[in-house]
Parts: sequence; C-alpha cells; structure tokens
Amino acid sequence: MTVYLDNNATTRPAACVVEAMLPYLRDCYFNPSASSAAFTGADRPQRDARVALAKLFNAEEPECFAFTSGATESNNWVFASLAGTDRRGTVVVSAIEHASVSEPAEALRQAGFRVINAPVDGQGLVRLDALRATLSDDTVLVSVVAANNETGVIQSLDRLGAVIRECAPCALFHTDATQAVGKIPIDLQGAWEEVDLLSFSAHKFHGPKGVGGLFVRPGIQVRAMLLGGGQERGLRSGTPNTAALAGLAAAVAEVDLAQMDVVATLRDEFEQALERAIAVTIHSRRAPRLPNTSCFSIAGADGEGIAHDLAARGVIVGTGSACSAGAMKPPKTVLALGVEHSTASGTLRVSLSRFTTRQELRILLERLIDALRS
Ligand code: PMP
Repeated sequence: MTVYLDNNATTRPAACVVEAMLPYLRDCYFNPSASSAAFTGADRPQRDARVALAKLFNAEEPECFAFTSGATESNNWVFASLAGTDRRGTVVVSAIEHASVSEPAEALRQAGFRVINAPVDGQGLVRLDALRATLSDDTVLVSVVAANNETGVIQSLDRLGAVIRECAPCALFHTDATQAVGKIPIDLQGAWEEVDLLSFSAHKFHGPKGVGGLFVRPGIQVRAMLLGGGQERGLRSGTPNTAALAGLAAAVAEVDLAQMDVVATLRDEFEQALERAIAVTIHSRRAPRLPNTSCFSIAGADGEGIAHDLAARGVIVGTGSACSAGAMKPPKTVLALGVEHSTASGTLRVSLSRFTTRQELRILLERLIDALRS
C-alpha cells in the first residue's frame, strides 16, 4: 500500500470525476465548438465547469473563466499578456511565488520591465510596509500567491488589495490560487474583490491533470494566450478538452470546505506527535495556513534523501527542493523565511487530502523515525 502525502503536488482524482469524464472519452467525443454541439451536448462540460466555478468562487458570471492547460499556463498568460503591450512599467511579485510566476516575471525583466520582489516576514506573509514601498503609478502588475505550495501560508488578499489600490492605481492584481481552491473560501465579490486575475489547476483538488483556468474580472483586458480557431472567446484557441472539463466541473461541484476541518485536525495531531518524536521546526505555523499542509525542517538532515528513503518504504512526501545545475537547492520559500541553508536542506512537506487517514499519518511518523535512524 502506498501512503500518499504529497497532495500539494497532485491529488487522487475523485471517483465522481473519473465517472464524469468517461462519457466524453467514449461516446460524446464531438466538437464542442461546432453548432452541432447544441444537439450532441459536447459543449456541456465547458458550461458546467464555468457555472460551478462561478458559484464556488462567487464570481460575477460564468463567462469570467477561460480554460487553460493548468495554472502554469494561466500564470504565464498573465505575464505574456503584459509583454505584448508597449508600456514597460514595474511588476511586483512576492518572494515566495511558484516558478510559473517567478520565471515569467524574470522574462519580463529581460524584456525591459522593472521587476521587484516583495519580501515576506518570518512566517511567509508579504510585508505590507515593504509592499507599499514598491508600489507607484508606474506599477502595472502585482502578483501574489494566495496560498503557498510549500508552507501553506495564506496571504491576506483583502489587505494586499487595499494597499495595491491605494498605492498603485493602474496595477492589475493577480493571484495564483492553485493551492487555495478546495481548501479555503474564495469570494471574488467579498474578501478577494480586488483580485483582477486568478489562476488555478484542477488536479490540485481531485480533478484531472492538464486542465485549469484563468479568472478574468469583467472589464479587465488580457491579450489572447493562443491564436487560432478563436475558442474561449478568442482568448485561448484550441479544441477544448471536454473530458477534462467534465472532470473539472465534477471536482468543483464536490468541494466541501467542511471536510478541511477534519483534515486540519489530522494535520495538527500529526504535528504534535512529530514534535514529541523529533526536533523539528514547523514553518508558517503562526500565520494563517492551509489546513492540509505541514512543512518542517530537521536541522542537518538531507530532506531529499529522507524523502527518497520514505518513498522506498512506500510513503510519498514532498521536499520543495529544486534541481539546479545538477545540485539540489533547498525550498525557496523556506529560505525566504530566513531559515539557514543547512536547516532548510532538511525540509519535508507533508500535504494531506480529504482521503488521508490517521493510520497513514501514523505510518509516516514510524517510517520517518526509521529513516532518520538508518
Ligand atoms: N502554482 C502553484 C502555487 C502550484 O503549487 C503549482 C503546482 N505545483 C502550480 C502553480 C503549477 O500548476 P500546474 O503544474 O498544474 O500547471
């Protein structure tokens, strides 16, 4: 039996998701963009997915969503859209963005934009005073990850939004909400009302891989991501992946945030047992944090080596390390918190899902203790 505890990387597709996809793979394989779709029903997944998303995120209308191959594409789209304009302003991104934001930001720097990293405090929260100091009339985009994939720290998008509107009136506000969906409330007409653009991926909340989207606030202009047949109102051409969209719609409809209270209880119990057994530093613990995420460092340990050992013992966890020039670099977010390199190298990320059991966490702890002894 595999004990899977790397749900911030990807999740098991829910049974209803697989069921929802099958008809579009087997029988209803028709072109969803043709006028015949009114008779074949091939356009239904797209419609259902938009309606379900608008409901879950409390968006103004289902048409605010454009579907993509996932959050990487959606994040790249936001930056590519700016690159196509004449104006070379300032772009601000937080210091703890996923590479699918930080690398496109770097590409904008190469293209002549000024790019500023907004620092975070020791818990991983963007420092409002520092953010304020980076903003001006020249700021064209601010991008801040709603919930970080490594430590799970949740930013206060309402407070950030207020500062951005006050100090950077011309800026677009983008958030990468990939880790937030299905785990915390998203209210695009409430706490997140200042967000203009929002990225997500279905496979992070029990949907299929290779599908996600970009929310574009009504009135906000983005340039087309892909040119061609004019699908997605001309914004993202290409024949839609109907089976994946049916899976996305089913995954969205199944989101039940009440289940996350149970997940948080399991996570907290795990952390208490972990601390009793091993000397660890648990990151972002004193900030709002995703209910499913536990990111901790063991000083002097080799996180990558331990994760490899655990995998050999049937337990899968994450490390957040990135391979660079053949060497492993410690997780970027943990370094941004000010954690020393030697401690950050001993980082593991345990991320639960609604399918995680207490028994699985017990097995993880046992095997982790074994791995550290060997
Ligand atoms: N942003 C965040 C915060 C993520 O965790 C991930 C996935 N690791 C992505 C973007 C990219 O998602 P995808 O691989 O589905 O494109």
